[in-house]
Amino acid sequence: MKYVQQVLENLKKNNPNEPEFHQAATEILSTLAPVVEKHPEYEAAGLLERFVEPERVVMFRVPWVDDKGKVHVNKGYRVQFNSAIGPYKGGLRFHPSVNLSIIKFLGLEQILKNSLTGLPIGGGKGGSDFDPKGKSDREIMNFCQSFMTELYRHVGADTDVPAGDIGVGGREIGYLFGQYKRIRNEHVGVLTGRGLTYGGSLVRTEATGYGLVYITEEALKARGDSFEGKTVIISGSGNVAIYACEKAQSLGAKVVAMYDSDGYIHDPDGINLEVVKDIKEVKRGRIKEYVKKVKKAIYKEGCKGIWTIPCDIALPCATQNEIDAESAKILVKNGVKYVAEGANMPSTLEAIEVFQKSGVVFLPAKAANAGGVATSALEMAQSSGRMFWSFEEVDAKLKNIMVSIYHNMEDAAKEYGCEGNYVLGANIAGFIKVATAMMAHGIV
Ligand code: NDP
Repeated sequence: MKYVQQVLENLKKNNPNEPEFHQAATEILSTLAPVVEKHPEYEAAGLLERFVEPERVVMFRVPWVDDKGKVHVNKGYRVQFNSAIGPYKGGLRFHPSVNLSIIKFLGLEQILKNSLTGLPIGGGKGGSDFDPKGKSDREIMNFCQSFMTELYRHVGADTDVPAGDIGVGGREIGYLFGQYKRIRNEHVGVLTGRGLTYGGSLVRTEATGYGLVYITEEALKARGDSFEGKTVIISGSGNVAIYACEKAQSLGAKVVAMYDSDGYIHDPDGINLEVVKDIKEVKRGRIKEYVKKVKKAIYKEGCKGIWTIPCDIALPCATQNEIDAESAKILVKNGVKYVAEGANMPSTLEAIEVFQKSGVVFLPAKAANAGGVATSALEMAQSSGRMFWSFEEVDAKLKNIMVSIYHNMEDAAKEYGCEGNYVLGANIAGFIKVATAMMAHGIV
Protein backbone atom coordinates (compact mmCIF):
# COMPACT_ATOMS: atom_id res chain seq x y z
CA MET A 1 0.00 0.00 0.00
CA LYS A 2 1.35 3.39 -1.11
CA TYR A 3 0.77 5.29 2.16
CA VAL A 4 2.48 2.65 4.32
CA GLN A 5 5.35 2.38 1.84
CA GLN A 6 5.81 6.14 1.84
CA VAL A 7 5.91 6.36 5.63
CA LEU A 8 8.55 3.63 5.73
CA GLU A 9 10.65 5.26 3.03
CA ASN A 10 10.54 8.64 4.79
CA LEU A 11 11.40 7.00 8.11
CA LYS A 12 14.52 5.46 6.57
CA LYS A 13 15.47 8.74 4.89
CA ASN A 14 14.90 10.87 7.98
CA ASN A 15 16.57 8.47 10.42
CA PRO A 16 19.70 7.30 8.61
CA ASN A 17 22.14 4.91 10.31
CA GLU A 18 19.43 3.38 12.50
CA PRO A 19 19.25 -0.19 11.12
CA GLU A 20 17.51 -1.77 14.12
CA PHE A 21 14.85 0.95 14.09
CA HIS A 22 14.34 0.43 10.35
CA GLN A 23 14.03 -3.33 10.91
CA ALA A 24 11.38 -3.03 13.62
CA ALA A 25 9.45 -0.40 11.67
CA THR A 26 9.53 -2.57 8.52
CA GLU A 27 8.23 -5.59 10.43
CA ILE A 28 5.39 -3.56 11.95
CA LEU A 29 4.37 -1.33 9.05
CA SER A 30 4.44 -4.13 6.49
CA THR A 31 1.56 -5.80 8.35
CA LEU A 32 -0.61 -2.72 8.94
CA ALA A 33 -1.77 -2.07 5.36
CA PRO A 34 -5.13 -3.88 5.77
CA VAL A 35 -6.03 -1.79 8.83
CA VAL A 36 -5.05 1.46 7.17
CA GLU A 37 -7.07 0.52 4.08
CA LYS A 38 -10.10 -0.03 6.28
CA HIS A 39 -9.57 3.36 7.95
CA PRO A 40 -8.79 6.02 5.33
CA GLU A 41 -9.14 8.66 8.07
CA TYR A 42 -5.78 7.48 9.45
CA GLU A 43 -3.92 8.73 6.38
CA ALA A 44 -5.78 12.06 6.47
CA ALA A 45 -4.73 12.45 10.12
CA GLY A 46 -1.07 11.55 9.41
CA LEU A 47 -1.48 8.80 11.96
CA LEU A 48 1.33 6.51 10.83
CA GLU A 49 3.80 9.40 10.51
CA ARG A 50 3.02 10.33 14.12
CA PHE A 51 3.06 6.72 15.28
CA VAL A 52 6.67 6.15 14.13
CA GLU A 53 7.98 9.47 15.49
CA PRO A 54 8.77 9.43 19.24
CA GLU A 55 6.92 12.05 21.28
CA ARG A 56 10.21 12.90 22.97
CA VAL A 57 13.84 11.74 22.91
CA VAL A 58 16.12 12.61 25.82
CA MET A 59 19.88 12.08 25.49
CA PHE A 60 22.27 12.97 28.26
CA ARG A 61 25.77 12.72 29.67
CA VAL A 62 26.37 10.25 32.50
CA PRO A 63 29.67 10.99 34.27
CA TRP A 64 30.81 8.60 37.00
CA VAL A 65 33.93 7.70 38.95
CA ASP A 66 35.41 4.17 39.14
CA ASP A 67 37.05 2.56 42.19
CA LYS A 68 40.45 3.88 41.18
CA GLY A 69 39.19 7.45 41.00
CA LYS A 70 39.13 7.59 37.19
CA VAL A 71 36.30 9.58 35.60
CA HIS A 72 34.21 7.92 32.87
CA VAL A 73 31.48 9.36 30.67
CA ASN A 74 28.66 7.30 29.16
CA LYS A 75 25.65 8.20 27.04
CA GLY A 76 22.17 8.03 28.61
CA TYR A 77 18.90 7.72 26.67
CA ARG A 78 15.18 7.80 27.30
CA VAL A 79 12.82 7.60 24.35
CA GLN A 80 9.25 8.51 25.32
CA PHE A 81 7.62 7.04 22.27
CA ASN A 82 3.87 7.04 22.70
CA SER A 83 1.60 7.95 25.63
CA ALA A 84 -1.78 7.59 23.87
CA ILE A 85 -3.07 4.81 26.11
CA GLY A 86 -1.12 5.42 29.33
CA PRO A 87 2.12 6.70 30.85
CA TYR A 88 5.30 5.72 29.01
CA LYS A 89 6.48 2.31 30.17
CA GLY A 90 9.47 0.24 29.15
CA GLY A 91 12.81 -0.95 30.42
CA LEU A 92 16.30 0.48 30.75
CA ARG A 93 19.14 -1.42 29.05
CA PHE A 94 22.77 -1.10 30.15
CA HIS A 95 24.97 -2.69 27.49
CA PRO A 96 27.94 -1.39 25.46
CA SER A 97 25.99 -1.91 22.21
CA VAL A 98 23.24 0.56 23.22
CA ASN A 99 22.67 3.44 20.80
CA LEU A 100 19.72 5.53 19.66
CA SER A 101 18.73 3.05 16.95
CA ILE A 102 18.44 0.20 19.45
CA ILE A 103 16.49 2.26 21.98
CA LYS A 104 14.10 3.46 19.25
CA PHE A 105 13.46 -0.07 17.94
CA LEU A 106 12.76 -1.24 21.47
CA GLY A 107 10.49 1.76 22.14
CA LEU A 108 8.47 1.24 18.96
CA GLU A 109 7.95 -2.44 19.77
CA GLN A 110 7.03 -1.53 23.31
CA ILE A 111 4.04 0.58 22.20
CA LEU A 112 2.30 -2.40 20.64
CA LYS A 113 3.45 -4.86 23.30
CA ASN A 114 2.02 -2.71 26.07
CA SER A 115 -1.22 -2.28 24.18
CA LEU A 116 -1.50 -6.05 23.73
CA THR A 117 -1.40 -6.59 27.49
CA GLY A 118 -4.79 -4.88 27.68
CA LEU A 119 -3.45 -2.61 30.44
CA PRO A 120 -3.24 1.21 30.29
CA ILE A 121 0.46 1.70 29.53
CA GLY A 122 2.16 3.68 26.77
CA GLY A 123 5.51 2.86 25.19
CA GLY A 124 9.03 4.02 26.06
CA LYS A 125 12.54 2.65 26.45
CA GLY A 126 15.91 3.86 27.67
CA GLY A 127 19.37 2.90 28.74
CA SER A 128 23.04 3.53 28.40
CA ASP A 129 26.14 2.21 26.63
CA PHE A 130 27.55 1.54 30.12
CA ASP A 131 28.86 -2.03 30.55
CA PRO A 132 28.01 -3.42 34.01
CA LYS A 133 30.17 -6.50 33.41
CA GLY A 134 33.18 -6.69 35.74
CA LYS A 135 32.18 -3.56 37.69
CA SER A 136 32.10 -3.52 41.49
CA ASP A 137 28.84 -2.86 43.36
CA ARG A 138 30.14 0.59 44.26
CA GLU A 139 30.81 1.42 40.60
CA ILE A 140 27.33 0.20 39.61
CA MET A 141 25.86 2.41 42.34
CA ASN A 142 27.89 5.44 41.23
CA PHE A 143 26.72 4.95 37.68
CA CYS A 144 23.05 4.43 38.60
CA GLN A 145 23.03 7.50 40.84
CA SER A 146 24.51 9.66 38.09
CA PHE A 147 22.07 8.24 35.52
CA MET A 148 19.07 9.04 37.75
CA THR A 149 20.40 12.51 38.57
CA GLU A 150 19.41 13.45 35.02
CA LEU A 151 16.58 10.96 34.40
CA TYR A 152 14.51 12.05 37.43
CA ARG A 153 13.38 15.21 35.57
CA HIS A 154 11.71 13.18 32.87
CA VAL A 155 10.04 10.29 34.73
CA GLY A 156 7.29 9.96 37.33
CA ALA A 157 4.69 7.48 38.54
CA ASP A 158 2.04 8.99 36.20
CA THR A 159 4.43 10.14 33.46
CA ASP A 160 7.03 7.51 32.64
CA VAL A 161 7.80 4.36 34.61
CA PRO A 162 11.01 2.57 33.56
CA ALA A 163 11.90 -1.03 34.50
CA GLY A 164 14.81 -3.42 33.90
CA ASP A 165 16.14 -4.96 30.70
CA ILE A 166 19.56 -6.33 29.68
CA GLY A 167 22.09 -5.40 32.36
CA VAL A 168 19.46 -3.86 34.64
CA GLY A 169 18.12 -6.18 37.33
CA GLY A 170 17.07 -5.86 40.98
CA ARG A 171 20.39 -4.38 42.12
CA GLU A 172 20.36 -1.57 39.54
CA ILE A 173 16.64 -0.79 40.06
CA GLY A 174 17.37 -0.47 43.80
CA TYR A 175 20.14 2.09 43.27
CA LEU A 176 18.08 4.01 40.69
CA PHE A 177 15.06 4.09 43.00
CA GLY A 178 17.15 5.19 45.99
CA GLN A 179 18.50 8.16 44.04
CA TYR A 180 15.06 9.16 42.70
CA LYS A 181 13.58 9.08 46.20
CA ARG A 182 16.45 11.12 47.56
CA ILE A 183 16.12 13.84 44.90
CA ARG A 184 12.31 14.04 44.74
CA ASN A 185 11.52 13.19 48.36
CA GLU A 186 8.69 10.91 47.29
CA HIS A 187 8.26 7.15 47.67
CA VAL A 188 6.21 6.34 44.58
CA GLY A 189 6.01 3.70 41.87
CA VAL A 190 8.40 5.47 39.51
CA LEU A 191 10.22 2.26 38.61
CA THR A 192 9.03 -1.33 38.46
CA GLY A 193 10.99 -4.44 39.27
CA ARG A 194 11.53 -3.00 42.75
CA GLY A 195 12.51 -5.19 45.70
CA LEU A 196 9.68 -6.69 47.75
CA THR A 197 10.53 -4.54 50.79
CA TYR A 198 10.02 -1.25 48.93
CA GLY A 199 7.01 -1.59 46.64
CA GLY A 200 7.89 -4.48 44.35
CA SER A 201 5.53 -7.22 43.22
CA LEU A 202 5.84 -10.94 43.62
CA VAL A 203 6.36 -12.73 40.27
CA ARG A 204 7.97 -9.67 38.59
CA THR A 205 11.35 -11.43 38.53
CA GLU A 206 9.87 -14.55 36.95
CA ALA A 207 7.26 -12.79 34.81
CA THR A 208 8.84 -12.51 31.36
CA GLY A 209 10.14 -16.08 31.32
CA TYR A 210 6.99 -17.56 32.85
CA GLY A 211 4.80 -15.49 30.51
CA LEU A 212 6.77 -16.74 27.51
CA VAL A 213 6.11 -20.33 28.51
CA TYR A 214 2.42 -19.65 29.28
CA ILE A 215 1.77 -18.24 25.81
CA THR A 216 3.72 -21.09 24.17
CA GLU A 217 1.74 -23.56 26.27
CA GLU A 218 -1.48 -22.00 24.93
CA ALA A 219 -0.21 -22.37 21.35
CA LEU A 220 0.64 -26.02 22.08
CA LYS A 221 -2.74 -26.60 23.72
CA ALA A 222 -4.55 -25.17 20.69
CA ARG A 223 -2.85 -27.94 18.68
CA GLY A 224 -3.66 -30.67 21.18
CA ASP A 225 -0.11 -30.72 22.48
CA SER A 226 1.90 -29.73 25.58
CA PHE A 227 5.44 -29.10 26.87
CA GLU A 228 5.59 -32.62 28.32
CA GLY A 229 8.59 -34.49 26.89
CA LYS A 230 9.59 -31.70 24.48
CA THR A 231 13.24 -30.83 23.86
CA VAL A 232 13.80 -27.10 24.29
CA ILE A 233 16.69 -24.75 23.50
CA ILE A 234 16.89 -21.44 25.34
CA SER A 235 19.43 -18.80 24.36
CA GLY A 236 20.79 -16.45 27.01
CA SER A 237 21.14 -17.21 30.69
CA GLY A 238 19.83 -13.97 32.15
CA ASN A 239 16.55 -13.08 33.76
CA VAL A 240 14.23 -14.11 30.92
CA ALA A 241 16.13 -17.28 30.01
CA ILE A 242 16.39 -18.59 33.58
CA TYR A 243 12.68 -18.28 34.36
CA ALA A 244 11.61 -19.57 30.96
CA CYS A 245 13.74 -22.61 31.73
CA GLU A 246 12.24 -22.98 35.21
CA LYS A 247 8.64 -22.91 33.95
CA ALA A 248 9.30 -25.10 30.90
CA GLN A 249 10.98 -27.72 33.12
CA SER A 250 8.09 -27.61 35.57
CA LEU A 251 5.76 -28.47 32.67
CA GLY A 252 7.82 -31.53 31.78
CA ALA A 253 10.10 -30.17 29.06
CA LYS A 254 13.77 -31.00 28.74
CA VAL A 255 15.86 -27.85 28.27
CA VAL A 256 19.15 -28.99 26.76
CA ALA A 257 21.10 -25.80 25.97
CA MET A 258 21.64 -22.21 27.11
CA TYR A 259 24.27 -19.53 26.46
CA ASP A 260 25.85 -16.26 27.44
CA SER A 261 27.69 -13.93 25.10
CA ASP A 262 30.86 -16.09 25.23
CA GLY A 263 29.49 -19.52 24.35
CA TYR A 264 26.89 -22.22 24.96
CA ILE A 265 26.42 -25.24 27.17
CA HIS A 266 24.81 -28.44 25.91
CA ASP A 267 23.50 -30.85 28.50
CA PRO A 268 21.57 -33.61 26.67
CA ASP A 269 20.09 -34.97 29.92
CA GLY A 270 18.55 -31.59 30.75
CA ILE A 271 20.06 -28.43 32.25
CA ASN A 272 20.48 -28.35 36.01
CA LEU A 273 18.94 -24.93 36.60
CA GLU A 274 20.14 -24.61 40.19
CA VAL A 275 23.72 -24.69 38.89
CA VAL A 276 22.93 -22.01 36.28
CA LYS A 277 21.23 -19.83 38.88
CA ASP A 278 24.18 -20.12 41.21
CA ILE A 279 26.62 -19.12 38.46
CA LYS A 280 24.52 -16.31 37.00
CA GLU A 281 22.37 -14.91 39.80
CA VAL A 282 24.59 -15.46 42.84
CA LYS A 283 28.14 -15.34 41.50
CA ARG A 284 27.51 -13.22 38.37
CA GLY A 285 29.91 -15.62 36.57
CA ARG A 286 30.21 -17.10 33.08
CA ILE A 287 28.13 -19.98 31.72
CA LYS A 288 31.25 -22.02 30.88
CA GLU A 289 31.64 -22.70 34.62
CA TYR A 290 28.63 -25.05 34.28
CA VAL A 291 30.78 -27.84 32.83
CA LYS A 292 33.02 -27.81 35.91
CA LYS A 293 29.95 -28.68 38.01
CA VAL A 294 28.11 -30.92 35.57
CA LYS A 295 30.75 -33.17 34.03
CA LYS A 296 28.67 -34.75 31.27
CA ALA A 297 27.73 -31.36 29.77
CA ILE A 298 29.82 -29.72 27.07
CA TYR A 299 30.75 -26.08 26.52
CA LYS A 300 31.47 -24.50 23.13
CA GLU A 301 32.81 -21.03 22.44
CA GLY A 302 30.55 -18.78 20.35
CA CYS A 303 26.77 -18.53 20.38
CA LYS A 304 25.55 -19.46 16.92
CA GLY A 305 26.21 -23.18 17.29
CA ILE A 306 23.36 -23.47 19.80
CA TRP A 307 20.84 -23.39 16.94
CA THR A 308 22.37 -26.53 15.40
CA ILE A 309 21.17 -28.63 18.34
CA PRO A 310 17.94 -30.46 17.38
CA CYS A 311 14.88 -29.34 19.36
CA ASP A 312 11.07 -29.19 19.25
CA ILE A 313 10.83 -25.70 20.72
CA ALA A 314 13.28 -22.79 20.50
CA LEU A 315 13.02 -19.90 22.94
CA PRO A 316 15.51 -17.15 22.00
CA CYS A 317 15.92 -15.11 25.20
CA ALA A 318 19.16 -13.12 24.82
CA THR A 319 19.21 -10.26 22.35
CA GLN A 320 18.22 -8.83 18.96
CA ASN A 321 19.07 -10.64 15.70
CA GLU A 322 20.48 -13.75 17.38
CA ILE A 323 18.72 -16.01 14.84
CA ASP A 324 19.49 -15.27 11.19
CA ALA A 325 18.12 -17.07 8.12
CA GLU A 326 20.93 -19.63 8.18
CA SER A 327 20.24 -20.61 11.79
CA ALA A 328 16.49 -20.60 11.13
CA LYS A 329 16.96 -23.05 8.24
CA ILE A 330 19.03 -25.37 10.43
CA LEU A 331 16.40 -25.26 13.17
CA VAL A 332 13.69 -26.12 10.65
CA LYS A 333 15.76 -28.92 9.12
CA ASN A 334 16.26 -30.37 12.60
CA GLY A 335 12.51 -30.40 13.21
CA VAL A 336 11.70 -27.33 15.32
CA LYS A 337 7.91 -26.88 15.59
CA TYR A 338 7.58 -23.77 17.79
CA VAL A 339 9.68 -20.63 18.07
CA ALA A 340 8.62 -18.13 20.74
CA GLU A 341 10.62 -14.94 21.22
CA GLY A 342 11.59 -14.11 24.81
CA ALA A 343 14.12 -11.48 23.71
CA ASN A 344 13.14 -8.43 21.69
CA MET A 345 13.52 -8.94 17.91
CA PRO A 346 15.81 -11.99 18.26
CA SER A 347 14.91 -13.18 14.75
CA THR A 348 15.94 -11.26 11.64
CA LEU A 349 13.22 -10.47 9.09
CA GLU A 350 14.68 -13.22 6.87
CA ALA A 351 14.59 -15.76 9.73
CA ILE A 352 10.93 -14.96 10.41
CA GLU A 353 10.19 -15.61 6.74
CA VAL A 354 11.92 -19.01 6.95
CA PHE A 355 9.85 -19.98 10.01
CA GLN A 356 6.56 -18.80 8.57
CA LYS A 357 7.10 -20.47 5.20
CA SER A 358 8.03 -23.75 6.90
CA GLY A 359 4.86 -23.87 8.98
CA VAL A 360 6.67 -23.33 12.30
CA VAL A 361 4.39 -21.78 14.92
CA PHE A 362 6.14 -18.43 15.38
CA LEU A 363 5.19 -16.27 18.37
CA PRO A 364 6.69 -12.77 18.02
CA ALA A 365 8.34 -10.94 20.91
CA LYS A 366 5.78 -8.23 21.39
CA ALA A 367 3.25 -10.88 22.32
CA ALA A 368 5.47 -13.62 23.70
CA ASN A 369 7.54 -11.52 26.11
CA ALA A 370 4.77 -9.15 27.19
CA GLY A 371 4.47 -10.91 30.55
CA GLY A 372 7.24 -8.79 32.04
CA VAL A 373 5.67 -5.45 31.32
CA ALA A 374 2.21 -6.79 32.15
CA THR A 375 3.43 -7.74 35.61
CA SER A 376 5.10 -4.34 35.88
CA ALA A 377 1.67 -2.82 35.31
CA LEU A 378 0.33 -5.10 38.06
CA GLU A 379 3.13 -3.76 40.27
CA MET A 380 1.98 -0.21 39.43
CA ALA A 381 -1.60 -1.12 40.39
CA GLN A 382 -0.43 -2.54 43.72
CA SER A 383 1.69 0.57 44.40
CA SER A 384 -1.15 3.01 43.69
CA GLY A 385 -3.60 0.96 45.73
CA ARG A 386 -1.11 0.36 48.61
CA MET A 387 -1.80 -3.36 48.21
CA PHE A 388 0.31 -6.48 48.06
CA TRP A 389 -1.00 -9.49 46.18
CA SER A 390 0.13 -13.07 46.79
CA PHE A 391 2.38 -14.99 44.39
CA GLU A 392 -0.57 -17.12 43.28
CA GLU A 393 -2.76 -14.07 42.60
CA VAL A 394 -0.17 -12.31 40.44
CA ASP A 395 0.80 -15.54 38.67
CA ALA A 396 -2.84 -16.26 37.83
CA LYS A 397 -3.32 -12.73 36.46
CA LEU A 398 -0.12 -13.10 34.39
CA LYS A 399 -1.30 -16.40 32.95
CA ASN A 400 -4.72 -14.93 32.05
CA ILE A 401 -3.06 -12.01 30.31
CA MET A 402 -0.79 -14.29 28.26
CA VAL A 403 -3.69 -16.54 27.28
CA SER A 404 -5.76 -13.56 26.14
CA ILE A 405 -2.84 -12.10 24.20
CA TYR A 406 -2.60 -15.41 22.35
CA HIS A 407 -6.29 -15.40 21.46
CA ASN A 408 -6.37 -11.70 20.56
CA MET A 409 -3.55 -12.08 18.06
CA GLU A 410 -5.04 -15.32 16.76
CA ASP A 411 -8.43 -13.61 16.24
CA ALA A 412 -6.87 -10.54 14.59
CA ALA A 413 -4.89 -12.74 12.20
CA LYS A 414 -8.07 -14.64 11.29
CA GLU A 415 -10.13 -11.47 10.88
CA TYR A 416 -7.60 -10.09 8.40
CA GLY A 417 -7.43 -13.35 6.44
CA CYS A 418 -3.99 -14.49 7.64
CA GLU A 419 -4.75 -17.30 10.08
CA GLY A 420 -1.69 -18.45 11.99
CA ASN A 421 0.34 -15.34 11.10
CA TYR A 422 0.96 -14.12 14.63
CA VAL A 423 3.33 -11.35 13.53
CA LEU A 424 0.46 -9.73 11.67
CA GLY A 425 -2.06 -10.63 14.37
CA ALA A 426 0.00 -9.13 17.21
CA ASN A 427 0.81 -5.97 15.30
CA ILE A 428 -2.78 -5.34 14.29
CA ALA A 429 -4.32 -6.22 17.66
CA GLY A 430 -1.85 -3.91 19.43
CA PHE A 431 -2.09 -1.11 16.87
CA ILE A 432 -5.89 -0.73 16.73
CA LYS A 433 -6.18 0.34 20.38
CA VAL A 434 -3.33 2.84 20.10
CA ALA A 435 -4.65 4.24 16.80
CA THR A 436 -8.15 4.66 18.21
CA ALA A 437 -6.79 6.57 21.22
CA MET A 438 -4.54 8.73 19.02
CA MET A 439 -7.48 9.63 16.78
CA ALA A 440 -9.54 10.60 19.83
CA HIS A 441 -6.80 12.96 21.04
CA GLY A 442 -6.68 15.00 17.81
CA ILE A 443 -3.47 16.04 16.07
CA VAL A 444 -1.00 15.86 18.97
P1 NDP B 1 19.86 -10.12 31.19
O1 NDP B 1 20.86 -9.04 31.20
O2 NDP B 1 19.36 -10.66 32.47
O3 NDP B 1 20.40 -11.37 30.34
C1 NDP B 1 20.79 -11.22 29.02
C2 NDP B 1 21.37 -12.54 28.54
O4 NDP B 1 21.58 -12.46 27.14
C3 NDP B 1 22.72 -12.84 29.17
O5 NDP B 1 22.89 -14.23 29.24
C4 NDP B 1 23.68 -12.22 28.16
O6 NDP B 1 24.99 -12.78 28.19
C5 NDP B 1 22.99 -12.56 26.86
N1 NDP B 1 23.36 -11.59 25.84
C6 NDP B 1 23.20 -10.25 25.87
N2 NDP B 1 23.68 -9.69 24.76
C7 NDP B 1 24.17 -10.71 24.01
C8 NDP B 1 24.80 -10.78 22.75
N3 NDP B 1 25.03 -9.68 22.03
N4 NDP B 1 25.15 -11.99 22.29
C9 NDP B 1 24.90 -13.11 23.02
N5 NDP B 1 24.32 -13.09 24.23
C10 NDP B 1 23.95 -11.92 24.70
O7 NDP B 1 18.67 -9.57 30.29
P2 NDP B 1 17.15 -10.06 30.23
O8 NDP B 1 17.09 -11.53 30.44
O9 NDP B 1 16.37 -9.17 31.09
O10 NDP B 1 16.78 -9.70 28.73
C11 NDP B 1 16.97 -10.62 27.66
C12 NDP B 1 16.09 -10.21 26.47
O11 NDP B 1 14.73 -10.21 26.88
C13 NDP B 1 16.36 -8.81 25.92
O12 NDP B 1 16.14 -8.81 24.53
C14 NDP B 1 15.30 -7.97 26.59
O13 NDP B 1 15.00 -6.79 25.85
C15 NDP B 1 14.13 -8.94 26.59
N6 NDP B 1 13.09 -8.65 27.56
C16 NDP B 1 13.36 -8.60 28.90
C17 NDP B 1 12.34 -8.36 29.80
C18 NDP B 1 12.57 -8.42 31.28
O14 NDP B 1 11.57 -8.39 32.01
N7 NDP B 1 13.78 -8.54 31.77
C19 NDP B 1 10.97 -8.07 29.34
C20 NDP B 1 10.79 -8.23 27.92
C21 NDP B 1 11.83 -8.48 27.09
P3 NDP B 1 26.17 -11.99 28.92
O15 NDP B 1 25.89 -12.12 30.39
O16 NDP B 1 27.40 -12.67 28.47
O17 NDP B 1 26.09 -10.56 28.45
